[in-house]
Amino acid sequence: MEVSSGNGIDRNKAMVEQLQRYGIFNSKKVAEAMEKVDRGLFVPAGTPAYVDSPMAIGYNVTISAPHMHAMCLQLLEKNLQPGMHALDIGSGTGYLTACFALMVGPEGRAVGVEHIPELVTSSIKNIEKSEAASLLKQGSLSINVGDGRQGWPEFAAYDAIHVGAAAREIPQPLIDQLKPGGRMVIPVGNVFQDLKVVDKNLDGSLSIRNETSVRYVPLTSRDAQLRGT
Ligand code: SAH
Repeated sequence: MEVSSGNGIDRNKAMVEQLQRYGIFNSKKVAEAMEKVDRGLFVPAGTPAYVDSPMAIGYNVTISAPHMHAMCLQLLEKNLQPGMHALDIGSGTGYLTACFALMVGPEGRAVGVEHIPELVTSSIKNIEKSEAASLLKQGSLSINVGDGRQGWPEFAAYDAIHVGAAAREIPQPLIDQLKPGGRMVIPVGNVFQDLKVVDKNLDGSLSIRNETSVRYVPLTSRDAQLRGT
């Protein structure tokens, strides 16, 4: 799938419409956010931004495919309402964090955590060019350098947690930082991975189900990632 005519934001809109036509998602709020955040601003120059495929962004990692971003946004939609707190672990290009920020709005909090400092710097530059720039400036959107396996306690508890890299098991700090009533979407596994939907019930217990089989880069240490092991 490549949308080939028009300028960036039009081609981005056409991509979002195509994902809806293919039945990948149907949420109006998700479509609105994805239409506002031009994916073309978030991929390295020369990368086909509107193709439904993961793309290399350096440092042995990829930006996830548009259909995965759409699916995760839809799974988290009820937990991305205005005023809510959202955490994006492995924020990479910053694309999904920007979508979160638009959905939770200026009264909410969208927090990205990424362990490659260069990606944090470039993701901030990407966001500054995007529709989410004002939220970054105003402070409801932030991207931080850190080991995402520890979460980001400063703005916990979170209504929504997204993990963009596959964990061997669900990190306990992320469970601890999930609000009762909150939802985490996290790929778990090694080569074969399940995208797990983790709901924290109001009594603090967890309900966990597998949404689909996925292939993400590992949630690991910076050294292991840069070694490519
Ligand atoms: N969701 C992002 C990036 C997905 S790739 C996007 O679509 O653009 C996964 C990201 O997780 C990479 O940027 C990688 O550097 C990061 N990552 C892997 N392990 C991490 C860890 N322990 N802490 C923080 N970030 C991590």
